[in-house]
Amino acid sequence: MIKILSKNVADKIAAGEVVDRPLSIVKELVENAIDAGAANITVEIRNGGKTYIRVTDNGCGIPEEETELAFLRHATSKIATDEDLNKICTLGFRGEALSSIAAVSRVELITKTAEAKTGVSLKIHGGEFFEKSATGCPDGTTIIVSDLFYNTPARLKFMKTDSTESTLIIEFISKIALAYEQIKIRLINNGTILFSTNGKGDKYSNIITVYSKTVGEGLIHITGERENMSLEGYISRPDFSKTNRKQQIFFVNGRSVSNRIMDMAVQEGYTERLFEGRYPVAYLFFKIKPELVDVNIHPNKKEVRFHQDMEVKNFIAQTIKTGLLSQQAIPPVTSSH
Ligand code: ADP
Ligand code: MG
Repeated sequence: MIKILSKNVADKIAAGEVVDRPLSIVKELVENAIDAGAANITVEIRNGGKTYIRVTDNGCGIPEEETELAFLRHATSKIATDEDLNKICTLGFRGEALSSIAAVSRVELITKTAEAKTGVSLKIHGGEFFEKSATGCPDGTTIIVSDLFYNTPARLKFMKTDSTESTLIIEFISKIALAYEQIKIRLINNGTILFSTNGKGDKYSNIITVYSKTVGEGLIHITGERENMSLEGYISRPDFSKTNRKQQIFFVNGRSVSNRIMDMAVQEGYTERLFEGRYPVAYLFFKIKPELVDVNIHPNKKEVRFHQDMEVKNFIAQTIKTGLLSQQAIPPVTSSH
Protein backbone atom coordinates (compact mmCIF):
# COMPACT_ATOMS: atom_id res chain seq x y z
CA MET A 1 0.00 0.00 0.00
CA ILE A 2 1.37 3.40 -0.95
CA LYS A 3 1.25 6.06 1.73
CA ILE A 4 2.58 9.58 1.97
CA LEU A 5 5.20 9.73 4.73
CA SER A 6 4.42 11.80 7.79
CA LYS A 7 6.16 15.18 8.06
CA ASN A 8 8.38 13.82 10.80
CA VAL A 9 9.67 10.86 8.80
CA ALA A 10 10.06 12.92 5.63
CA ASP A 11 12.06 15.56 7.52
CA LYS A 12 14.32 12.91 9.05
CA ILE A 13 15.05 11.49 5.60
CA ALA A 14 15.80 14.93 4.17
CA ALA A 15 17.94 15.67 7.22
CA GLY A 16 20.18 12.78 6.28
CA GLU A 17 21.26 14.66 3.17
CA VAL A 18 21.71 18.08 4.72
CA VAL A 19 22.93 17.28 8.22
CA ASP A 20 25.50 14.53 8.38
CA ARG A 21 27.70 15.87 11.18
CA PRO A 22 28.13 18.96 13.41
CA LEU A 23 30.00 20.80 10.65
CA SER A 24 26.99 20.75 8.35
CA ILE A 25 24.85 22.42 11.02
CA VAL A 26 27.43 25.11 11.64
CA LYS A 27 27.69 25.68 7.91
CA GLU A 28 23.95 26.07 7.41
CA LEU A 29 23.51 28.36 10.43
CA VAL A 30 26.43 30.58 9.48
CA GLU A 31 25.18 30.80 5.91
CA ASN A 32 21.79 31.89 7.22
CA ALA A 33 23.47 34.55 9.35
CA ILE A 34 25.37 35.86 6.31
CA ASP A 35 22.19 35.85 4.21
CA ALA A 36 20.51 37.82 7.02
CA GLY A 37 23.01 40.65 6.44
CA ALA A 38 24.81 40.25 9.77
CA ALA A 39 27.83 42.42 10.55
CA ASN A 40 28.64 40.29 13.58
CA ILE A 41 28.56 36.52 13.88
CA THR A 42 29.57 34.42 16.87
CA VAL A 43 29.93 30.67 16.60
CA GLU A 44 30.25 28.67 19.77
CA ILE A 45 30.70 24.91 19.95
CA ARG A 46 31.19 22.40 22.73
CA ASN A 47 32.39 18.81 22.38
CA GLY A 48 33.00 19.14 18.68
CA GLY A 49 29.48 20.51 18.26
CA LYS A 50 27.91 17.20 19.30
CA THR A 51 26.34 18.53 22.47
CA TYR A 52 26.12 22.26 21.74
CA ILE A 53 26.29 24.62 18.77
CA ARG A 54 25.32 28.26 19.02
CA VAL A 55 25.32 30.77 16.18
CA THR A 56 24.42 34.35 17.06
CA ASP A 57 24.07 37.12 14.48
CA ASN A 58 22.91 40.72 14.40
CA GLY A 59 21.13 40.32 11.07
CA CYS A 60 17.54 41.05 10.07
CA GLY A 61 15.88 38.61 12.49
CA ILE A 62 12.73 36.60 11.81
CA PRO A 63 9.30 38.17 12.37
CA GLU A 64 7.53 36.46 15.27
CA GLU A 65 4.66 35.24 13.06
CA GLU A 66 7.12 33.51 10.70
CA THR A 67 9.18 31.66 13.27
CA GLU A 68 7.31 28.35 12.98
CA LEU A 69 7.23 28.66 9.20
CA ALA A 70 11.03 28.93 9.08
CA PHE A 71 11.19 25.34 10.39
CA LEU A 72 8.96 23.87 7.69
CA ARG A 73 10.66 22.07 4.83
CA HIS A 74 10.84 24.07 1.58
CA ALA A 75 10.03 27.24 3.50
CA THR A 76 12.35 30.03 2.37
CA SER A 77 12.31 33.80 2.01
CA LYS A 78 15.17 33.70 -0.50
CA ILE A 79 13.65 32.50 -3.76
CA ALA A 80 10.10 32.36 -5.05
CA THR A 81 9.99 31.15 -8.66
CA ASP A 82 11.86 28.57 -10.70
CA GLU A 83 13.52 31.40 -12.63
CA ASP A 84 15.13 32.50 -9.38
CA LEU A 85 16.94 29.15 -9.35
CA ASN A 86 18.95 30.29 -12.38
CA LYS A 87 20.43 33.31 -10.64
CA ILE A 88 20.92 32.55 -6.98
CA CYS A 89 22.48 35.38 -5.01
CA THR A 90 22.08 34.01 -1.49
CA LEU A 91 23.87 31.11 0.16
CA GLY A 92 20.60 29.42 1.11
CA PHE A 93 17.67 28.82 -1.20
CA ARG A 94 16.42 25.27 -0.61
CA GLY A 95 14.51 25.98 2.60
CA GLU A 96 15.69 22.71 4.10
CA ALA A 97 18.28 23.53 6.71
CA LEU A 98 16.23 24.55 9.72
CA SER A 99 13.67 21.77 9.25
CA SER A 100 16.44 19.20 8.83
CA ILE A 101 18.42 20.39 11.84
CA ALA A 102 15.32 20.52 14.03
CA ALA A 103 14.36 16.98 13.01
CA VAL A 104 17.51 15.47 14.52
CA SER A 105 18.29 17.63 17.56
CA ARG A 106 16.88 20.04 20.13
CA VAL A 107 16.77 23.56 18.76
CA GLU A 108 16.12 26.89 20.37
CA LEU A 109 15.57 29.93 18.17
CA ILE A 110 15.78 33.36 19.73
CA THR A 111 15.11 36.16 17.31
CA LYS A 112 14.04 39.77 17.02
CA THR A 113 13.58 42.07 14.04
CA ALA A 114 14.40 45.76 14.36
CA GLU A 115 10.67 46.62 14.14
CA ALA A 116 9.56 44.19 16.87
CA LYS A 117 9.24 45.50 20.43
CA THR A 118 10.30 42.23 21.97
CA GLY A 119 12.01 39.05 20.86
CA VAL A 120 10.67 35.53 20.70
CA SER A 121 12.05 32.17 21.77
CA LEU A 122 10.88 29.02 20.05
CA LYS A 123 11.96 25.53 21.08
CA ILE A 124 11.69 22.49 18.87
CA HIS A 125 12.66 19.00 19.97
CA GLY A 126 13.10 16.29 17.35
CA GLY A 127 10.98 18.22 14.87
CA GLU A 128 8.08 18.81 17.31
CA PHE A 129 7.20 22.35 18.44
CA PHE A 130 7.83 22.37 22.17
CA GLU A 131 7.55 25.85 23.61
CA LYS A 132 7.19 29.45 22.48
CA SER A 133 7.55 32.57 24.60
CA ALA A 134 8.35 36.27 24.42
CA THR A 135 11.87 37.15 25.46
CA GLY A 136 14.12 40.15 25.71
CA CYS A 137 17.04 40.00 23.26
CA PRO A 138 19.03 42.20 20.89
CA ASP A 139 18.07 42.56 17.21
CA GLY A 140 19.16 39.51 15.27
CA THR A 141 19.03 35.77 15.64
CA THR A 142 20.52 33.13 17.89
CA ILE A 143 20.10 29.46 17.17
CA ILE A 144 21.21 26.90 19.72
CA VAL A 145 21.41 23.26 18.67
CA SER A 146 21.85 20.70 21.43
CA ASP A 147 22.03 16.93 21.57
CA LEU A 148 22.62 16.34 17.90
CA PHE A 149 21.24 13.01 16.63
CA TYR A 150 19.77 12.12 20.06
CA ASN A 151 16.81 10.59 18.22
CA THR A 152 18.75 8.95 15.36
CA PRO A 153 21.07 6.42 17.04
CA ALA A 154 22.69 5.30 13.77
CA ARG A 155 23.90 8.82 13.05
CA LEU A 156 24.92 9.37 16.64
CA LYS A 157 27.30 6.41 16.45
CA PHE A 158 28.70 7.61 13.15
CA MET A 159 30.13 10.85 14.58
CA LYS A 160 33.88 10.97 15.08
CA THR A 161 35.79 12.16 18.15
CA ASP A 162 35.19 15.64 19.55
CA SER A 163 38.54 16.75 18.26
CA THR A 164 37.93 15.48 14.71
CA GLU A 165 34.53 17.17 14.57
CA SER A 166 35.80 20.43 16.06
CA THR A 167 38.78 20.54 13.68
CA LEU A 168 36.42 20.43 10.70
CA ILE A 169 34.34 23.26 12.16
CA ILE A 170 37.39 25.37 12.97
CA GLU A 171 38.73 24.90 9.44
CA PHE A 172 35.39 25.92 7.98
CA ILE A 173 34.91 29.03 10.11
CA SER A 174 38.49 30.03 9.34
CA LYS A 175 37.68 29.96 5.63
CA ILE A 176 34.49 31.92 6.17
CA ALA A 177 36.46 34.54 8.10
CA LEU A 178 38.75 35.03 5.09
CA ALA A 179 35.90 35.20 2.60
CA TYR A 180 33.83 37.65 4.67
CA GLU A 181 36.30 40.26 5.79
CA GLN A 182 33.53 42.83 6.38
CA ILE A 183 31.90 40.62 9.01
CA LYS A 184 33.23 40.36 12.55
CA ILE A 185 33.49 36.64 13.13
CA ARG A 186 34.20 35.12 16.51
CA LEU A 187 34.79 31.44 17.17
CA ILE A 188 34.53 29.89 20.63
CA ASN A 189 35.47 26.28 21.31
CA ASN A 190 34.72 24.74 24.73
CA GLY A 191 34.65 28.18 26.31
CA THR A 192 37.86 29.48 24.72
CA ILE A 193 37.87 32.19 22.06
CA LEU A 194 39.93 30.80 19.17
CA PHE A 195 39.85 33.95 17.10
CA SER A 196 37.90 37.08 16.51
CA THR A 197 38.24 39.05 13.28
CA ASN A 198 37.78 42.81 13.25
CA GLY A 199 35.30 43.13 10.38
CA LYS A 200 37.29 46.02 8.91
CA GLY A 201 37.45 44.57 5.42
CA ASP A 202 41.08 43.50 5.33
CA LYS A 203 41.46 39.91 4.08
CA TYR A 204 45.18 39.83 4.65
CA SER A 205 44.90 40.83 8.28
CA ASN A 206 42.27 38.09 8.69
CA ILE A 207 44.69 35.53 7.23
CA ILE A 208 47.16 36.50 9.93
CA THR A 209 44.49 36.53 12.68
CA VAL A 210 43.08 33.17 11.67
CA TYR A 211 46.21 31.32 10.55
CA SER A 212 49.50 32.99 11.37
CA LYS A 213 52.00 35.63 10.40
CA THR A 214 54.19 32.92 8.89
CA VAL A 215 51.41 31.76 6.60
CA GLY A 216 50.78 35.37 5.57
CA GLU A 217 54.42 36.02 4.71
CA GLY A 218 54.55 33.30 2.08
CA LEU A 219 51.62 34.70 0.11
CA ILE A 220 51.21 36.82 -3.00
CA HIS A 221 48.06 38.86 -3.58
CA ILE A 222 46.46 38.39 -7.00
CA THR A 223 43.50 40.01 -8.69
CA GLY A 224 41.97 39.69 -12.11
CA GLU A 225 38.87 40.75 -13.91
CA ARG A 226 37.18 39.78 -17.11
CA GLU A 227 33.66 40.13 -18.50
CA ASN A 228 31.24 38.35 -16.13
CA MET A 229 33.94 37.16 -13.72
CA SER A 230 36.56 38.37 -11.27
CA LEU A 231 39.11 36.82 -8.97
CA GLU A 232 40.84 37.90 -5.81
CA GLY A 233 43.25 35.55 -4.18
CA TYR A 234 46.24 34.91 -1.98
CA ILE A 235 48.59 32.28 -3.36
CA SER A 236 51.91 30.98 -2.16
CA ARG A 237 55.26 31.76 -3.62
CA PRO A 238 56.34 28.48 -5.25
CA ASP A 239 58.91 27.85 -2.50
CA PHE A 240 56.13 27.81 0.12
CA SER A 241 54.31 24.81 -1.36
CA LYS A 242 52.72 22.00 0.66
CA THR A 243 52.47 18.24 0.31
CA ASN A 244 48.68 18.25 -0.04
CA ARG A 245 45.78 20.36 -1.25
CA LYS A 246 44.44 21.19 2.23
CA GLN A 247 45.53 24.80 1.91
CA GLN A 248 43.57 25.29 -1.29
CA ILE A 249 40.40 27.16 -0.42
CA PHE A 250 37.88 28.05 -3.07
CA PHE A 251 34.92 30.37 -2.82
CA VAL A 252 32.49 30.98 -5.66
CA ASN A 253 30.20 33.97 -5.16
CA GLY A 254 30.82 33.79 -1.42
CA ARG A 255 30.14 30.07 -1.20
CA SER A 256 32.80 27.64 0.00
CA VAL A 257 33.05 24.92 -2.65
CA SER A 258 35.21 22.12 -3.90
CA ASN A 259 35.61 22.21 -7.64
CA ARG A 260 37.68 20.22 -10.13
CA ILE A 261 37.95 23.07 -12.59
CA MET A 262 39.49 25.31 -9.95
CA ASP A 263 41.86 22.50 -8.87
CA MET A 264 43.01 22.23 -12.46
CA ALA A 265 43.33 26.00 -12.84
CA VAL A 266 45.67 26.18 -9.84
CA GLN A 267 47.74 23.29 -11.16
CA GLU A 268 47.97 24.96 -14.56
CA GLY A 269 48.78 28.38 -13.09
CA TYR A 270 51.84 26.92 -11.37
CA THR A 271 52.94 24.74 -14.31
CA GLU A 272 56.66 23.98 -14.13
CA ARG A 273 57.11 26.02 -10.98
CA LEU A 274 56.47 23.19 -8.55
CA PHE A 275 58.05 19.81 -7.97
CA GLU A 276 55.93 16.72 -8.52
CA GLY A 277 53.66 16.09 -5.53
CA ARG A 278 53.86 19.65 -4.19
CA TYR A 279 50.79 21.86 -3.97
CA PRO A 280 50.64 25.61 -3.63
CA VAL A 281 48.62 27.42 -1.00
CA ALA A 282 45.73 29.11 -2.80
CA TYR A 283 42.90 31.06 -1.22
CA LEU A 284 40.75 31.96 -4.20
CA PHE A 285 37.66 34.16 -4.05
CA PHE A 286 36.04 33.88 -7.44
CA LYS A 287 33.00 35.80 -8.53
CA ILE A 288 30.92 35.02 -11.57
CA LYS A 289 27.61 36.29 -12.90
CA PRO A 290 25.04 34.13 -11.04
CA GLU A 291 23.43 33.07 -14.33
CA LEU A 292 26.69 31.36 -15.35
CA VAL A 293 26.96 28.96 -12.43
CA ASP A 294 24.67 26.22 -11.17
CA VAL A 295 24.73 25.85 -7.39
CA ASN A 296 21.73 23.54 -7.15
CA ILE A 297 23.58 20.27 -7.66
CA HIS A 298 23.54 18.64 -4.25
CA PRO A 299 21.57 19.27 -1.03
CA ASN A 300 24.77 20.21 0.79
CA LYS A 301 25.54 22.88 -1.86
CA LYS A 302 29.27 22.14 -1.71
CA GLU A 303 29.58 21.70 -5.44
CA VAL A 304 28.97 24.12 -8.25
CA ARG A 305 28.99 23.69 -12.02
CA PHE A 306 30.18 26.43 -14.36
CA HIS A 307 28.40 26.80 -17.67
CA GLN A 308 31.69 27.67 -19.36
CA ASP A 309 34.26 25.45 -17.67
CA MET A 310 37.18 26.24 -19.93
CA GLU A 311 36.74 30.00 -19.76
CA VAL A 312 36.72 29.86 -15.99
CA LYS A 313 39.76 27.58 -15.87
CA ASN A 314 41.77 29.70 -18.29
CA PHE A 315 40.89 32.94 -16.52
CA ILE A 316 41.92 31.63 -13.09
CA ALA A 317 45.09 29.96 -14.40
CA GLN A 318 46.06 33.13 -16.27
CA THR A 319 45.46 35.35 -13.23
CA ILE A 320 47.71 33.06 -11.17
CA LYS A 321 50.44 33.03 -13.83
CA THR A 322 50.38 36.82 -14.13
CA GLY A 323 50.53 37.14 -10.34
CA LEU A 324 53.52 34.81 -10.09
CA LEU A 325 55.34 36.63 -12.90
CA SER A 326 54.85 40.09 -11.42
CA GLN A 327 56.14 38.72 -8.14
CA GLN A 328 59.29 37.52 -9.89
CA ALA A 329 59.79 40.95 -11.41
CA ILE A 330 60.42 42.37 -7.93
CA PRO A 331 64.20 42.10 -7.48
CA PRO A 332 65.20 39.99 -4.51
CA VAL A 333 66.48 41.92 -1.50
CA THR A 334 70.25 41.56 -1.12
CA SER A 335 72.65 42.98 1.39
CA SER A 336 75.40 43.80 -1.18
CA HIS A 337 75.66 47.28 -2.85
P1 ADP B 1 17.10 28.74 3.35
O1 ADP B 1 18.31 29.34 3.96
O2 ADP B 1 17.42 27.81 2.23
O3 ADP B 1 16.06 29.78 2.99
P2 ADP B 1 16.65 27.62 6.00
O4 ADP B 1 15.89 26.43 6.43
O5 ADP B 1 18.09 27.67 6.29
O6 ADP B 1 16.39 27.80 4.44
O7 ADP B 1 15.97 28.92 6.64
C1 ADP B 1 14.57 29.15 6.42
C2 ADP B 1 14.25 30.63 6.49
O8 ADP B 1 14.41 31.09 7.84
C3 ADP B 1 15.17 31.52 5.67
O9 ADP B 1 14.74 31.63 4.32
C4 ADP B 1 15.08 32.85 6.42
O10 ADP B 1 13.96 33.58 6.01
C5 ADP B 1 14.87 32.43 7.86
N1 ADP B 1 16.14 32.45 8.64
C6 ADP B 1 16.91 31.39 8.97
N2 ADP B 1 17.99 31.78 9.68
C7 ADP B 1 17.92 33.11 9.80
C8 ADP B 1 18.75 34.12 10.43
N3 ADP B 1 19.88 33.81 11.07
N4 ADP B 1 18.33 35.41 10.36
C9 ADP B 1 17.19 35.75 9.71
N5 ADP B 1 16.38 34.86 9.10
C10 ADP B 1 16.73 33.55 9.14
MG1 MG C 1 19.72 28.32 5.01
